[in-house]
Amino acid sequence: MPFPTVASPIGHYLQHLHDKFARLEDGQVATYIPELGRANPAWFGIAVATVDGQVYEVGDSRQEFTIQSISKPLVYGLALEAVGLKQVLARVGVEPSGEAFNSISLDPKTGRPLNPMINAGAIATSGLVPGSSPEERRTRLLELIGEFAARDLAMDDAVYCSERDTGHRNRAIAHLLRNFDIITGDPEDPLDLYFRQCSISVTCRDLAVMAATLAGGGVNPLSRRRVLQPQNAGRLLSVMSSCGMYDYAGECIYNVGMPAKSGVAGGLLAVLPGQLGIGIFSPPLDAKGNSVRGIRVCHDLSQDFGLHLFNSPRVVTPALKHVQSGADVRSKRLRAGAELEVLRRQGGCIRLYQLRGRLVFASLEPVIRSVLREAADCTHVIIDLAQVADLDRASCRLLLDLRDQLVRSGVRVFLTGAADNQTLRNYVVSRFDEGGWTQLCGFDSRDEALEACEEELLKRHGSKRPEPPGVPLKQQELCRGFTPGELQDLAQRLTALDLSADAEVLAAGSAADAMYFLVQGEVGIFLKPDGAAEQLISRLGPGMSFGEVALVDRAPRSATVRALSDIQILRLSFEAFDLLADEGLSHLQTKLIANLAGVLAARLRSANAEIRSLK
Ligand code: GLU
Repeated sequence: MPFPTVASPIGHYLQHLHDKFARLEDGQVATYIPELGRANPAWFGIAVATVDGQVYEVGDSRQEFTIQSISKPLVYGLALEAVGLKQVLARVGVEPSGEAFNSISLDPKTGRPLNPMINAGAIATSGLVPGSSPEERRTRLLELIGEFAARDLAMDDAVYCSERDTGHRNRAIAHLLRNFDIITGDPEDPLDLYFRQCSISVTCRDLAVMAATLAGGGVNPLSRRRVLQPQNAGRLLSVMSSCGMYDYAGECIYNVGMPAKSGVAGGLLAVLPGQLGIGIFSPPLDAKGNSVRGIRVCHDLSQDFGLHLFNSPRVVTPALKHVQSGADVRSKRLRAGAELEVLRRQGGCIRLYQLRGRLVFASLEPVIRSVLREAADCTHVIIDLAQVADLDRASCRLLLDLRDQLVRSGVRVFLTGAADNQTLRNYVVSRFDEGGWTQLCGFDSRDEALEACEEELLKRHGSKRPEPPGVPLKQQELCRGFTPGELQDLAQRLTALDLSADAEVLAAGSAADAMYFLVQGEVGIFLKPDGAAEQLISRLGPGMSFGEVALVDRAPRSATVRALSDIQILRLSFEAFDLLADEGLSHLQTKLIANLAGVLAARLRSANAEIRSLK
């Protein structure tokens, strides 16, 4: 039997809002543009789009209407992209006028409109749309507004003609702007473009997607295309929050707490930066020109979902996932003897900070505090960014400033997991140079950096791995406590093998018939989890053994062992091992097994310490 579909609580809530306000019959449909008067006052749609592209919609969410003033912030954003901040600010200010949409609020001296959300500022902004002819500017503008909606849009010719033929006040404004040289050339051109941009047909679903594009810092959540640079999306939202709702702007940001923009056809768009966009359509307007139902829906949504921008809880997740000490966590290079001892005693001087999520000031600042608190006990700090989803220039700067402070007090610092991070790379290279990048971020894997730190510690404490000719049998970790006679007896039962780099010594899944002592070179132990790529689990150096666990349980090989360099190994077959008892050498068996138990116990303890350190 198929499972019933469970309705989304969000869709359900929107339906409830729709039912609640559909009954509200206040307000008047705008008629000053005659064609707008044909709208049905009962049309009512609500849509909410998230920054990751989920759209919820109820009511007449696919009913088309003209965008009108809601085009103003979008064209403002496009002008910022096209001609840059300086040029835009020279033509249009960012001060709220607190006046009606068609007010003639110009600076008395310069003639500069107060802001781009009133008609004067919007007509001046339309004059900044680049293109070599009116047709080209028109096509370009339509395409770009379509990018905000992630679909091709069209203009409503009837509404355009209706406004063009009756928009005498806007015509007067355009000529006034021409008088002050705020627009150059024929003022009829930007005026015509303005009328046309206002006549673009949209649905309230489109408005929600446009709003979500602004909420996402300029990236359209459906097409995943960048429509605006983040700083321009921020500028657009700032001016929208102070001027978007005409003489209701102050109250709107006070009560609803989201930058919003309304249009005389009954559309309303609201943005909660970083989270979502809202689009509402209902033609009846209040005395200030805003959709009556639109405002009420925004109010309720803000209250019920806690969307007020200045009244929202902290949404930053802590960036520090965990801190580990080099005493608890080791690189994949397994160590024996003196090296192991040094790392056990001194490993605490290495600290690993695993960061995650989004690095912004508020998530990074506690990390900095934690690093500094422990810095006095450290010689090496590894900051792993492999799980960081996003970091801005400000966090790059903070990370590098932290690094400078640590280096000044003699601490070595490595940033790992950042090889593909272009923002960090550009920042590091601009501050130092390519060499600085290699020095700081040269190890991409945390494990390589950890091994480098271990090597430095070992060097500092005078215990370095033996150089060739390798580790003879008597110094092998499994032969601890063997007498010369016992070593000789064992040696007689071993086969020496020389293999070159990349040779496979053991294959996962194969039957186990021998164990190996590593005399010289390095081997890697590899696991291949189901469906995933093979992973290097650990690396062994001279003096260590492998394939020895099967000596105890005789189970098939659980991992593949491959030579990482040219190697020299000694093979002890299990057959030879088993025969030792019949040959009167069972004490050799006992000693080998006892040493093996010691090695395994040490590995288990260190694995436990690592697991504990992950809390
Ligand atoms: N096209 C309209 C006008 O300028 C837009 C006004 C609005 O939506 O606020 O009259």
